[in-house]
Amino acid sequence: MDTNDQPSGGRELISKNIDHTVLVPLQISGPSAQRVVIEWRGLMLASPLTLEPVAPSARILISRRWTERGVPFLKLIHPARGTLVDYCVRWVMRSSVGCFALIEMAPGWSDKEPHQTIVGVLDRDTLWTFLPEEFSQILPELRADINRRGECSLAEVEAVFGKMPDHLSPEFRAEDARAFEEREKTIEIFCFSCEKPLKESYAFCPHCGVSRVAPPCPGCSRPVTDARDRRVYYRDENGFYPWHYSWDGRCVNCGFEFAANLQISTGHKLFFEALGGGFQQELDELKRQGRDDLIKERVQNLYSGDSRIEIRGGESVYMAFDDWDYQPIIEVRVKRGVASNMNAPGSGLTKESGIVMTLQEWQAVIDQLQGPLRVLMERKNWSRDTT
Ligand SMILES: [Zn+2]
Ligand SMILES: [Zn+2]
Repeated sequence: MDTNDQPSGGRELISKNIDHTVLVPLQISGPSAQRVVIEWRGLMLASPLTLEPVAPSARILISRRWTERGVPFLKLIHPARGTLVDYCVRWVMRSSVGCFALIEMAPGWSDKEPHQTIVGVLDRDTLWTFLPEEFSQILPELRADINRRGECSLAEVEAVFGKMPDHLSPEFRAEDARAFEEREKTIEIFCFSCEKPLKESYAFCPHCGVSRVAPPCPGCSRPVTDARDRRVYYRDENGFYPWHYSWDGRCVNCGFEFAANLQISTGHKLFFEALGGGFQQELDELKRQGRDDLIKERVQNLYSGDSRIEIRGGESVYMAFDDWDYQPIIEVRVKRGVASNMNAPGSGLTKESGIVMTLQEWQAVIDQLQGPLRVLMERKNWSRDTT
């Protein structure tokens, strides 16, 4: 064959899209308002897809090496940004002035001719980027070498970059698992409030000073959970996670449950209810059980009414497309001994009622009842006899 380009895997070895630059995709590296992200070979990429060149005469470190179906790959680290990109090695060439490699952006980036470049190899872990004029000098040399040798084996590439295990091999998988664990340990988190980076161990944000810890428990004075507020970017999800995002409503230290189950004397009296029902039998039964405390309570409630109130926290969730909105709520349920019988059905005091409101709604009610509407709380129950 008299052309400089040798076929390789069904296409020309040297791409038409070759120049002196090592291109690295622009990745999402920190807090961002961006909603749409694109994943390519495990990288979260900025949208729209953007490539940025590494400066000429720069060292590029290699973080990993492996093969996919016999094709050697290198994972490169952008020297300024620290972002990652996968390149496959198409050719290695040793000359009198050093070692060079023809590298190509990993498949899947675009459907155009793959981007290629020639880099210098300083050692098995370090590449060197060329100036345009250096590149122009090396390219004919590379073509000549490809023509002369016709093939570049995996063994030759491994002689330059070291052993490249298959990405499906147990060896490579084990390395992957180790890397994953390491990433999990050092997972980057950010402040819930100002979104600047911080460490999980910090109780306060060093940037804005906001506390990250859960409020103290009234029972034991320690935080009710060890979880802390954080802004997190995961591979497949990101969000603002408050200390209570997986809290079960109990203090982790002393077990106190933040819910109330109250019984208070209020509401319509039970007197007439008792007349018609088996009140005496109920009292006799309690007497047999020795529950004098309950008898006292039941008799007292005859005249003062009886209400049971449950108060508990919860969360209301609204999901639209891939956006999840969580609102903390407080739910109150009231069960009463006797309902109103003179109001329109459902109004006045009912046997059972419940209300679910947000914290802000509850606060507004509390503010009103302690403020301008306080007088409403100062009224008395009253009675009359019309016989
Ligand atoms: Zn902050
Ligand atoms: Zn506690």
